[in-house]
Amino acid sequence: MNKIPYSKQYIDESDIDAVKSVLTSTWLTQGPTIAEFEKKFAEYIECKYAVAVSNGTAALHLCALALGIKEGQKVITTPISFSATANCIRYCGGEVVFVDVDPETHLLDLDKVENLLKSSKPGEYSGIIPVDFAGLPVNMEKLHRIANEYGLWIIEDACHAPGGYIIDSNNKVVKCGQGKYANLAIFSFHPVKHIAAGEGGMITTNDETLYHKLRNLRSHGIQQRSELKIYDHGPWYYEMQELGYNYRLTDIQAALGISQLARQKEGMKRRIEIAKKYYESFKRQSFIIRQSGVIEGHAYHLYVVEFRRRTELYKFLATNNIITQIHYIPIHLMPYYQNLGNKKGDFAIAEEYYDNCLSLPMYPTLSDSEQQFVIDKIFEFYSKL
Ligand SMILES: *Cc1c(COP(=O)(O)O)cnc(C)c1O
Repeated sequence: MNKIPYSKQYIDESDIDAVKSVLTSTWLTQGPTIAEFEKKFAEYIECKYAVAVSNGTAALHLCALALGIKEGQKVITTPISFSATANCIRYCGGEVVFVDVDPETHLLDLDKVENLLKSSKPGEYSGIIPVDFAGLPVNMEKLHRIANEYGLWIIEDACHAPGGYIIDSNNKVVKCGQGKYANLAIFSFHPVKHIAAGEGGMITTNDETLYHKLRNLRSHGIQQRSELKIYDHGPWYYEMQELGYNYRLTDIQAALGISQLARQKEGMKRRIEIAKKYYESFKRQSFIIRQSGVIEGHAYHLYVVEFRRRTELYKFLATNNIITQIHYIPIHLMPYYQNLGNKKGDFAIAEEYYDNCLSLPMYPTLSDSEQQFVIDKIFEFYSKL
């Protein structure tokens, strides 16, 4: 059996052709393929605007800038995510305030968020960054109500959840990143995510003002709308009005993204099948504590199982060429965040989850026989104990 990783990109001939055609075109960056990718992605997410950027971390940074996080401002986020989610607050000098996760979903515990805000001073918190962890959507409708009450903005980190959705109280499907309940949302096109572009990111929103601000910030702070220039020196003239960055995506990456996006629905179907098979195999087994389960709207970037004797299982699987992963080391335990005053014991549920969690292989090209091999090896490990 070849190595089975926890996630893997799927590149086919149509992807290669798409990239080739950009390579021989006029534009390698900032060309029409970027605009096409943004348009198609916005259609898929069912939002008004999308801004392509160089990666998911850059997307988070631009969102933090666009929403105006400033030195000392407090922003709430979850300890169960990739560090980048919290880091964007620090890039702008903000203070990261973690709130523990819900023991069932491992998403931010919204009741704890509300309690924290209830006991806060007016204006103490400026925003919140929830994560649709593993592909399971945050209840954005509920979070929106809470955030509104206390005047917080929301950046939805939807890196795990393109295609995920909730059904809100009006019985409407609201896709992750759709922008009905969040000011901004971000996605990543790192190869382990649903859509691989090598590197890449996207910001989605329904807010026109933020959209234009993000487009300027993506490219050095140069005003993209010529009618808004303050001066005019002539046809060569461009105008930098604020401090921005070069966070542009290339057209080469955008072409790959478009081609991958076209297979996204198909990929989601396969991810759901894989989830069902894991769920059926492990339900009621005494060696599991909890598993992702079969949940409508879940985008299944990861299939997480909390196993007893997780670390031994991880090693056993690795010796059998099954490379599982642990998502995530709680961010507050990273030495950088400990130096900022966080410590072990602060978020007990996140820490306990970290001790038991394991992300099993989950990607559209995982074959039935490979998945069966993974399941069989897990049963083999526990039968020998
Ligand atoms: C991958 C990821 C990011 C960062 O995306 P990059 O494209 O790797 O910079 C941020 N948040 C979450 C939840 C992620 O999974």
